[in-house]
Amino acid sequence: MATGTSNPFELAPKLVTSFIDGAWVGDQGGYRIPTFYPGNGQIISELQEADANEVDRAVRSARRAFNDPEWAGMAIEARQAILCRIADAIDANAYELATLETLNAGIVRRDVLGRQVVRAAYNFRFFAEVISQQPGQVWQQNKDYLTFVTRHPVGVAALIAPWNSPLALASMKVAAAIAYGNTCVLKPSEQTPLSLARMVEIINGITPPGVVNLVNGRGQITGSALVDHADVDLIAFTGGTETGRTIMQAAGRRLKPAAVELGGKSANIIFADADQERALDGALVSIFSNNGQQCLAGSRILVQDSIFDDFVGRFVERARKIKVGDPLSDETEIGPIASARHREHILSYVDIAKSQGATLLTGGRALDRDGYFIEPTAVLAPSNSDRVCQEEIFGPFASFVKFSDAEDAIRMANESQFGLVGYLWTQNVDKALRVSQAIRTGLMWVNTPMVRELRAPFGGVKDSGLGRDGATSSMAFFTEEKTTTIPIADVPLRKFGA
Ligand code: NAD
Repeated sequence: MATGTSNPFELAPKLVTSFIDGAWVGDQGGYRIPTFYPGNGQIISELQEADANEVDRAVRSARRAFNDPEWAGMAIEARQAILCRIADAIDANAYELATLETLNAGIVRRDVLGRQVVRAAYNFRFFAEVISQQPGQVWQQNKDYLTFVTRHPVGVAALIAPWNSPLALASMKVAAAIAYGNTCVLKPSEQTPLSLARMVEIINGITPPGVVNLVNGRGQITGSALVDHADVDLIAFTGGTETGRTIMQAAGRRLKPAAVELGGKSANIIFADADQERALDGALVSIFSNNGQQCLAGSRILVQDSIFDDFVGRFVERARKIKVGDPLSDETEIGPIASARHREHILSYVDIAKSQGATLLTGGRALDRDGYFIEPTAVLAPSNSDRVCQEEIFGPFASFVKFSDAEDAIRMANESQFGLVGYLWTQNVDKALRVSQAIRTGLMWVNTPMVRELRAPFGGVKDSGLGRDGATSSMAFFTEEKTTTIPIADVPLRKFGA
């Protein structure tokens, strides 16, 4: 394993290309996209965009690998061994993968090493276990027939990833796709190709060529060529809600199954009877971890009126002490925003908030240094209908609103186009159960921030998406059911023309 002694920037390849059929395609000319280190705004690498022809090559490679009986017909034990070897290889290359993720996405390397890379490896180990425990169905109620249901891989999967947490999110998709015998073409965000390019290379050291392919480029060029490709059988997408709608339209035209994990504006509800210290820690973690750029952020903090001033005061005091800075340093708590454009998007919400009567509690400015840093920010919004409470800002930006009682909190939490997750802090069990069930989200976390139980379904409702990851849910998405019926008695048949 490499260590921190070398220059981290030397790990970034000069040029990132597609990886098709077990090899880098190499320098082909064509459209180039620079990628930046958000810590100083410098270009660190270039991306060679895959056009429709190159995407077609990648899909054909995945199809060839899928049609090879050695892959599709592989024994579960052999597939498990492959998944476990991939997990081990990710662990062995953890430092390099984490550094590349930090150089591209700006997430603090200590956090990537401790969480995202660990999770990426675990995703493969997890599916290795899950596939060995899969029960089947046999129907015997019709006494003359035996009917059984088998599961089969779907085919070639298009996997599309966002920039905010590339390793953790894309590895889940790749692991689930190949665990069930599919092959895939992965398209990372054009902003953050580095860690996933290395991950695909590592995986290809273990899988047969063509099982995991990589294409890079902009969504409208490379991404749409991939989802529109006639020979792609299913699409798993994580990204923004508007892109999700476009993906669903493409999937609908070709009648392909698609799972879309989209944006959020999740409510974090803090009741007066909560353990205040834990709720405060949880509120800070759920809005500021991953530099605030996470779909499941608790970005709308609803606090009961009797504790409001005290809780907000303590939140602001802590937010002001957060160490913002170099994401390669172990001292840093929040790194830079992933791109200059996204930083402007986040900061634009300070004026939007003020124009609707909100009070800026803390932050709201870019740091006076190179790179895309901003101060941890919090505003007090007069109403839950204000834009800072309704729109996904996707940064270290918390919006506080006051509520009176449980009904008020439920109403506000549900007043949202999104429904990904929700957080709830109370010591009262009845209230915890009642409120958590009344809020329309895919997940609720009660008295804890962000625990991912991979066996359980993960995904959103409303504009937060369609479909779920998880043990049973991923199996349902990445396999097709086939029903087979056989007579087990001497069943007479009608005799046409006899
Ligand atoms: P995005 O929608 O802009 O891009 C996501 C991916 O889609 C990128 O790879 C992009 O190149 C590709 N893409 C864009 N247009 C496309 C098209 N027409 N056809 C095919 N592919 C296309 O999202 P982003 O800005 O990269 O990511 C941030 C968003 O992702 C936020 O809204 C966040 O909430 C969401 N997100 C959701 C989850 C979840 O699990 N629900 C997890 C992480 C991020």
